[in-house]
Amino acid sequence: MGTERKINLLDLDRRAMEALFQDLGAKPFHGRNVLKWIHKHGVTDFDAMTDLSKRLRQRLAGVAEVRVPEIVFDQPSRDGTHKWVLELECGNRIETVYIPDGERATLCVSSQVGCSLDCSFCSTARQGYNRNLSVGEIIGQLWVAARQQGKPVTNVVMMGMGEPLANFDAVVSAMDIMQDDLAYMLSKYRVTLSTSGIVPALRRLREVSDVSLAVSLHAPNDELRDRLVPVNRRYPLAELIPACRDFIAGDKRRKVTWEYVMLDGVNDSDRHARELIRLLEGTPSKLNLIPFNPFPGTDYRCSPPERIEAFRQRLLRSGLIAITRKTRGDDIDAACGQLVGRVQNRRRRLPGQVVTIERSATP
Ligand code: SAH
Repeated sequence: MGTERKINLLDLDRRAMEALFQDLGAKPFHGRNVLKWIHKHGVTDFDAMTDLSKRLRQRLAGVAEVRVPEIVFDQPSRDGTHKWVLELECGNRIETVYIPDGERATLCVSSQVGCSLDCSFCSTARQGYNRNLSVGEIIGQLWVAARQQGKPVTNVVMMGMGEPLANFDAVVSAMDIMQDDLAYMLSKYRVTLSTSGIVPALRRLREVSDVSLAVSLHAPNDELRDRLVPVNRRYPLAELIPACRDFIAGDKRRKVTWEYVMLDGVNDSDRHARELIRLLEGTPSKLNLIPFNPFPGTDYRCSPPERIEAFRQRLLRSGLIAITRKTRGDDIDAACGQLVGRVQNRRRRLPGQVVTIERSATP
């Protein structure tokens, strides 16, 4: 009695919000209004929600509240990129990156505290894994960014810390809120989920959600991909590629975005480019070449710019769309693969010992 946490309304998508109000003996449309207050207007104080009766506000306050993630570190980059470190309950920290580009403002959103996939070139992997984020902790990143910037986020990429398909239900629900007319109103072309390729979850996603797809490919054959992206040992390319093709089938506007990190002498030769062209034949594709962002302790180096350009030209000549991703926010460690947050590390923990891995730049 009395020790139970109140419901966090940030955890509720439209359906769950309607259900809550029905449970409170009210009409579902009140739930829709509250969704709008919270996400469209940024209001968290029930007393400011003037279209709810006083009695209903009191009843709501008895069971629910709005708990937003706390900003503990706020760092703008020289290029306009902005990184927030958010502290969650239990002391874990995640990172969210805001990337303005003309009219566009893209938010790179985390889905887990740390990551369990262990890709060899990613610094998030080094932090180990603690837990999945809740719906409220995922959508809370968007809530915080919109409030901080005072203008809407136009695009979301689920490319922060974690593997979104390993946190399936919460990610789907949060992406529903992103697309909801009562909340952030993002079209299905402006919400992109990036995965390293958990094939059964990808097939399931197609049944329940309509978003754009990015896949962390990084290698054109199983032998190399097994080393770079270990989840490939479970779901090899012969399963992954058809699942991606099926994911976009039926929508001519869609292409799969393939992320390909450029690692010097590892995956960047002309032979790799040829293999890649063959692998993607018949799949509407866009290649995103990502210059490798180094971090302390890694043996990988970024391919030289001329090599990246030669690789790209080869892909272009075959008719593929290929762009080299601009590295943004690297002066604040906000670039791809540099997000580390603070993971109360479970995986590498010795019994009885709490290991906190923290980067010096993060307080
Ligand atoms: N787990 C999901 C979401 C993370 S997205 C996924 O794998 O798709 C983050 C992207 O940045 C991925 O494509 C990842 O492979 C890439 N990345 C990771 N470390 C990097 C690094 N050091 N330099 C450049 N890109 C990196």
